[in-house]
Amino acid sequence: MTHRRPFIGGNWKMNTDQGAARALARQTAHGIGQTPKVELAVFVPFCYLLEVGRVLTEAGLPQALGAQDVYPEPDGAFTGEISCHMLRDCGVRAVLTGHSERRHIIGETDDLIRRKTHAALAAGFMVILCIGETLEQREAGRTNHVNRRQLKSAFDGFEPSWGERLIIAYEPVWAIGTGKTATPGDAQSAHETIRATIGEHLGADAAQSTRIIYGGSVKPDNASDLFSQEDIDGGLIGGASLDAQSFVRIVQAARGG
Ligand code: PEP
Repeated sequence: MTHRRPFIGGNWKMNTDQGAARALARQTAHGIGQTPKVELAVFVPFCYLLEVGRVLTEAGLPQALGAQDVYPEPDGAFTGEISCHMLRDCGVRAVLTGHSERRHIIGETDDLIRRKTHAALAAGFMVILCIGETLEQREAGRTNHVNRRQLKSAFDGFEPSWGERLIIAYEPVWAIGTGKTATPGDAQSAHETIRATIGEHLGADAAQSTRIIYGGSVKPDNASDLFSQEDIDGGLIGGASLDAQSFVRIVQAARGG
């Protein structure tokens, strides 16, 4: 971990119900408390945003409310989609784009992900853009190529002023929800390449200041080793964020123990 303020996100995916979401938000907020050292967000299902937002606001953490996706158009005939304005209206501060489950299960393209990322940044959200290679791509030695391609697409037409609200989540697809984690060394090496790629597109200052977080089966017992790497600035946590105690321990790891 470096001088950059660590960011820890909890991705609840399509889990919980109203009661469980409320309870998880309460336990998580209570366990974490106010922690200026680490920036936090929980990415909750759309239908529970208002409820979880109320709990986080009561706990003094209103800025931690996050959404798992957004549609780039402002309004209109886009059945089933949700706009930046709607998310803002629900109190959302942070948005995920390009999560591998949206890329590989839902079929989102680099182009759509760029439009979503730009729309959310232009609307003032903190955006966590997820990138990463599949197992097949990794075995073919294409990890860096894939990460560079996904970043290049996202940086096409990027406004420099958006940079401070962008976080990159490197999430190797083969490590998400599988219990397999990249070794700290492998993750660090991918993050180094990602930082260099940010530099090529947005300049050296942006490369140094942009947070790059790791995601893929991060648990309380591997978090410290990952977060101690030079270019790993926190994590995006799926499964372990559904258990408040585990999530709190991961946040403590990001605080430095
Ligand atoms: C994720 O959902 O982004 C993720 C990394 O999931 P998990 O921690 O379960 O691998």
